[in-house]
Amino acid sequence: MTRPHLLFAAVAVTLALAGCARPTPEQQFIDDAFAALGGRSRIEAAKSLTIEGTGVNYNLGQDMKPEAATQVFAITGYKRVIDVTNGRQRVEQTRTPKFAYFQGPQPQKQIQGLDGTVAFNVNAAGQAAPVGAAAEADRRADFFHHPLTLLHAAQTATATVQNVRTVGAVRQANIKTPHLQFTLTIDAAGVPLSISSNAYHANLGDVVMTTTFSNYQDVNGLKLPARLAGKVDDFTTWEILAATQTLDGQTGELAAPASVATARTDKPEGLSPPVTVIAEAVGKGVWLLAGQSHHSALVEFSDHLMLIDAPQSEARTLAVIAKARETVPGKPLTQLVTTHHHFDHTAGMRAAIAEGLTVITHEGNKAWVERMAKRPHTRRPDALAKNPRAATVEAVDAEREFKDASMALTLYQVDGNPHSDTMLMAYVPSARVLIQVDAFSPGAQTNPYAANLLQNIQSRKLAVDRIVPLHGTTAPMEELIKTGR
Ligand SMILES: [Zn+2]
Repeated sequence: MTRPHLLFAAVAVTLALAGCARPTPEQQFIDDAFAALGGRSRIEAAKSLTIEGTGVNYNLGQDMKPEAATQVFAITGYKRVIDVTNGRQRVEQTRTPKFAYFQGPQPQKQIQGLDGTVAFNVNAAGQAAPVGAAAEADRRADFFHHPLTLLHAAQTATATVQNVRTVGAVRQANIKTPHLQFTLTIDAAGVPLSISSNAYHANLGDVVMTTTFSNYQDVNGLKLPARLAGKVDDFTTWEILAATQTLDGQTGELAAPASVATARTDKPEGLSPPVTVIAEAVGKGVWLLAGQSHHSALVEFSDHLMLIDAPQSEARTLAVIAKARETVPGKPLTQLVTTHHHFDHTAGMRAAIAEGLTVITHEGNKAWVERMAKRPHTRRPDALAKNPRAATVEAVDAEREFKDASMALTLYQVDGNPHSDTMLMAYVPSARVLIQVDAFSPGAQTNPYAANLLQNIQSRKLAVDRIVPLHGTTAPMEELIKTGR
């Protein structure tokens, strides 16, 4: 027998509780964000989003001077397809350098995929290959750097919303997923302004990646940002302006090809090939320490050794240092010449500092080297984080000679070179060699900076027989003359 009056009473109590119960600050925060974007049910129902537009990419760590943002790639044909339900994303874009780029001025198409935890790139021939561990981590985070994906995730049982706070005119909360924690910033009306998350960068160490959102527009009843921009700490790395946004349209194939998963399990350690270093004598007291793509050089003085460049990674630089000590046993390796500030040529600089080497670089890089040596690397402690010491940095302006009984070497600024404003080259008159990087890479398809290098050698009347490049193989001076003419 049913007792309708009791049932009615129970329902009334539940309704009364629901009416009185105030949402927690965490729930209020998420509710406000949902409301600002068009309502929870509409957001939860969205399965995919396609953003198409144009924009720019900047050249983090590879610009003319440390921390400059003068070099821009124009982005056309941008298309980001987000499969919210299946955790997949594909970004296609064509980037065209608007500066003297080492690969030449032609547009390059890029395709970047993410399928769950697997990140991959697709090359011009349509072949997919997995990316390294660092890029994979960044891409997995990037998937949630959009209000739609992060709010979807915030509502799942495995996510928690924590630490709602007011910061000036905005509100923030941490949204913790099983994989990573994000900070969502909303304005007074609940509109998402930015999403950030912590990351590790081989050169910069601990960084905060932030995506900012503005120009909200109506997309099938939802409010979504048409302007998105990405930052690494305070450095803007990309900006996209959407021309069209499509909800629940055709996504195309977003799953990772089977070959990607196979390649990934074949090489579990971050996909980097093992480091090899070959010492090649290029004159009395001068060696090229050749690597796969990035080399160093070694110079022997009476009582010490000098290394030129610590490129690519800590692992490479430690192997290069070991090879230097093996090549000339018994003399201390005390100096590292950092030819220029570019990330690919300085990724091992902190390891060299940890080994006690004094860094010698252009005056325009000195403060930057000191800052790089001080940056926290707590998320993946590197050699310097494990063995902290202050960097000793010596600056070179236009030129500086290093001379003792057995060696004379002069560092010159590569004046007016469009590759970098603060770049050095090394001249060893006794061996008639010039050691330089990036200005001339023998064998490269294009060498847009070679003419300037030639001028730098000729205007100083340096007697050079051979170019020792830190990319490519050594080449006779005639080859530079031919290329730079
Ligand atoms: Zn460079």
